[in-house]
Amino acid sequence: MSQFSYQLLSQDLETGARRGVFSTPHGTVQTPAFMPVGTQGTVKGVTIDQVAATGAEMILGNTYHLALRPGHETVRRLGGLHGMTLWEGPILTDSGGFQIFSLESIREITEQQATFRSHIDGSIVQLTPEHSIEIQESLGSDVAMVLDHVVALPAPRSTVVDAMERSIRWAGRCLNAATRDDQARFAIVQGGLEAELRIQCAKELATMDFEGFAVGGLSVGEAPSEMYRITAATCPHLPADKPRYLMGVGRPIDLLESIARGIDLFDCVMPTRNGRNAMAFTDRGNVKIRNATYREDTRPLEEHCPCLACRHSLGYLRHLFVAKEMLGPILLTIHNLTYYQRVMSEARAAIENNTFAQYVREKKAGWGMVDELP
Ligand SMILES: [Zn+2]
Repeated sequence: MSQFSYQLLSQDLETGARRGVFSTPHGTVQTPAFMPVGTQGTVKGVTIDQVAATGAEMILGNTYHLALRPGHETVRRLGGLHGMTLWEGPILTDSGGFQIFSLESIREITEQQATFRSHIDGSIVQLTPEHSIEIQESLGSDVAMVLDHVVALPAPRSTVVDAMERSIRWAGRCLNAATRDDQARFAIVQGGLEAELRIQCAKELATMDFEGFAVGGLSVGEAPSEMYRITAATCPHLPADKPRYLMGVGRPIDLLESIARGIDLFDCVMPTRNGRNAMAFTDRGNVKIRNATYREDTRPLEEHCPCLACRHSLGYLRHLFVAKEMLGPILLTIHNLTYYQRVMSEARAAIENNTFAQYVREKKAGWGMVDELP
């Protein structure tokens, strides 16, 4: 009996949006869900209690960063990611594939392995699918991602096909290498911006024994409409009884558009990174806190937001950033994470009530965006 399950609670009648529950050994996750990113074993700038208070139920750790520093054996000896961070809920770790690609440190990809240069000390590191799983087993995450071959887009079709086919073979090697019953494995669909390749990849991976499926290799510079098109093409070919995860995405609008196309799980550095850079997400769009118009503004960032940042005035938040105080980035990180969780919570309620399409239209109107629903 698997320790993991996905229960589809309800489906929106107008769109492909799904309301579900993903169960893991460290608890359940109400989906659609957003996972804050804890790259180095910490969600930057905030304590684990503050992360939990935003409403997050699952967080993400990065295999690449943790394997290089402090090293996965060290993480294991310190109690794994759960023991180290004190996060009691589910944790997902990526496989390292995207980091190797995005840090442009890649030296060579062969059928056997990826070879890259460490961004810390410049040493040559080799990563096989088997080693990626071994590292993630040491980290002790609830969900391990398979090692995939990500290519920069646009790329020649032959390059995209080659990487997609290798990603499928590597997914199989990851499954064979896995030894832990308390860790789920998620496959990653590749295939660039060609729907036909994505569908082929999804169908092949769906025949394999994975507990969940991800759409990878997107949000790498393509237009949002392209990302939505590929997500819409892929989701119908993934098993309905398993969670679907869109990796590294995105803006609040991208989350809603992707939920409408059948996605259940998300992660992105945007709420934390933008928070550190003085940008807040709100129902009226993005707010640049440093703006001089907020100098003596006594109103909170958002009237109805329960977060700590919104108990302060806009003028005070602006002052913290202008004075380069640590508290500014901390407070905006808390607000942005709270905002993302609120949007997910509202989305879940809207799916249950069959009002998801209307909800997205209202959100877009607030953000000043035009309607792009399928
Ligand atoms: Zn707030």
